[in-house]
Amino acid sequence: MTRPTASVSLDLDNLWAYLKTHGDPGWESRPSFLPTAVPRLLELLGEHRLATTVFVVGADAEREDGAKAVAAIAAAGHEVANHSWGHEPWLHRYGPDELEAELSRTEDAIVAAGAPRPVGFRGPGYSITPELLALLHRRGYLYDATTLPTWIGPLARAYHYRGTPKEERGELFGPVSDVRAPIHPYRWSDAGGLVELPVTTMPLTRLPIHGSYLLQLHQASPRLARAYLATALALCRLRGVQPSLLLHPTDVLDAAEAPGMEFFPGMAVPGREKAALLGHVLASLRSRFDVVGTGEHVARLRDAGIRRHRGTAAVAR
Ligand SMILES: [Zn+2]
Repeated sequence: MTRPTASVSLDLDNLWAYLKTHGDPGWESRPSFLPTAVPRLLELLGEHRLATTVFVVGADAEREDGAKAVAAIAAAGHEVANHSWGHEPWLHRYGPDELEAELSRTEDAIVAAGAPRPVGFRGPGYSITPELLALLHRRGYLYDATTLPTWIGPLARAYHYRGTPKEERGELFGPVSDVRAPIHPYRWSDAGGLVELPVTTMPLTRLPIHGSYLLQLHQASPRLARAYLATALALCRLRGVQPSLLLHPTDVLDAAEAPGMEFFPGMAVPGREKAALLGHVLASLRSRFDVVGTGEHVARLRDAGIRRHRGTAAVAR
């Protein structure tokens, strides 16, 4: 019997992007932890013989350490996808030209670094707009992987952005539509049938199951984190959900390696312990599913036929 498909993707959010979102002016010198994080992540993925997808930020890909990371990621057989240029959580305020520049500058930087032109996109902070979805289709993208169908999103965002001024913060809570957004993949009916591959949340409870969330549980109790993961994956199999799991560099870095990020959940866990938990997550996923990157996941879904549709008005603000 062939195993069902699952996918793993990694958002290559850099130290400066976290500080920017947190409202720390130190972000402007664009401090980077990519030289520490990327080799560690590639080694771990290699150990589990996984080809995944890495969503890269254009502002990093344009710089030497980011370009080097893109080249290493592509050489290791992973798909490189677009995670916007400036990792701007206020993307919904951008006009058409600015949105186009967010995509094109990143595409150019990725290609210049030696990877193929990206066909997948994930918006920063799980934010996407109808305009951006239409633009992705026009620029030849095959899929978007931004949506996080959870009720905890607004809570997570409130925590994440608690350093930002109150009047700004309101807009960051994301569309209420996240709460009832589909967990299964679908097509955006008015963006040329662009495919949406949601970040998987636990069937029924709609709690996140991505790396950072598991780490938070792990900080409370390592056994709880493992039991939670096992339950989530069993529920996915039971409900016919092909999980798409999301990882971040902070899943393998500790506070000493990400100076200024002590505020971020799970940073007190030592880097080696984090890598061990991530290894367990990847091994669990591989034992139940055929694990690929998001681009390959979407290709398989397209081959099988995607019947669900959703209008882009659902993500309008
Ligand atoms: Zn991000």
